[in-house]
Amino acid sequence: MNAFTSQLQQLSLQGNLRHLPEMEENGAYVFIKGMKMLNLSSNDYLGLADDTALRDEFLQTVDMRGCRFSSTSSRLLTGNGVLYRQLENRLAELYSAESALVFNSGYHANSGILPAVTDSRSLILADKLVHASIVDGIGLSKARCIRYRHNDYEQLERLVAELARQYDKIFIVTESIFSMDGDECDLPRLVELKRNYDNIFLYLDEAHAFGVRGAQGLGCAEEQRVIGEIDFLVGTFGKAAASVGAFVICTDELKQYLVNKMRTLIFTTALPPVNLAWTLFVVNRLCQMQSRRKHLETISRRVRDVVNPLNGNIISSSHIIPYISGDSVRALRTAELLQHEGFYLLPVRPPTVPQGTSRVRISLNAGCTDTEIDNLVQAIQNCSSKL
Ligand SMILES: *Cc1c(COP(=O)(O)O)cnc(C)c1O
Repeated sequence: MNAFTSQLQQLSLQGNLRHLPEMEENGAYVFIKGMKMLNLSSNDYLGLADDTALRDEFLQTVDMRGCRFSSTSSRLLTGNGVLYRQLENRLAELYSAESALVFNSGYHANSGILPAVTDSRSLILADKLVHASIVDGIGLSKARCIRYRHNDYEQLERLVAELARQYDKIFIVTESIFSMDGDECDLPRLVELKRNYDNIFLYLDEAHAFGVRGAQGLGCAEEQRVIGEIDFLVGTFGKAAASVGAFVICTDELKQYLVNKMRTLIFTTALPPVNLAWTLFVVNRLCQMQSRRKHLETISRRVRDVVNPLNGNIISSSHIIPYISGDSVRALRTAELLQHEGFYLLPVRPPTVPQGTSRVRISLNAGCTDTEIDNLVQAIQNCSSKL
């Protein structure tokens, strides 16, 4: 037996073996092996990916002659078409910021920004639960990094007080809404901490909040009126915006610095113009989608009211609601039970989440009807009494 075989067997025994699921998507539903299930595992938080009216409007209004399907090179060669300028200008305008810079994905953004802006005289202080793409960015950086306990600001403040003077620059890195627990960072407290030092930079990943939070859908920083205090505000287009790509909101100078130093921007083919056109089209409409955001908030509260009390100390405050099982086999079993009830929910297991916190991750979207949510709540209650 070779090393790969034995490691795969090990994963299988632990209930942690992953497969690429074979599925068909159809509107709000997925079909797997003949079973039709409501899709509660996508990141299409506003339900825009299946909005055919929106897609038709785009196809009718977009100038397809300017929309090649490939950008044919890096942005620094010939890939930097006019749509990049339009999209970045629009984002900067929406955030009332100096600059925006667009990337191929959130993974490119997070794995590339920190290595570019840090050096051996920098310190990164990152929340224990930040996304894998940020963890990889930290791994590529020459800075020292300390991960503080999830949302433990007393620990963070202690670390800053102790270490701030030993480093040129300190980067505090967090998500606004956390991917797996669905809880949130304390933005006002982070901003307050930053104000007491002149060498702190705040890096905020709004992947799950962009489109979803704030009056215009710009994220938690908009909702809490601190956009101007965030040095690197990262958002992604693959979730609520129903597209692909990502962006950072920052100063002109930092943008210029990234363009010169960021390897995941420089050494990759730029996004296709047709994709940038769709992203720009959606971004221009996001501001007016308050009713979708409001519906999402209402149904999320209903599900949280049932699930949070079953979870111990992991308390969601968003549309991402973990249903904690503890061990992986039990999470698998819970997911299977709920799939049988018609809800496409998936187990999330180590290493994506810490050992002992395997869960089913419920990811709601504004396309869910009140009846579907009633049925979901019922199914979860039945399931929790069965297990
Ligand atoms: C999804 C996600 C990313 C990655 O974004 P992609 O555009 O899918 O590569 C980054 N950060 C967080 C918190 C995410 O949830």
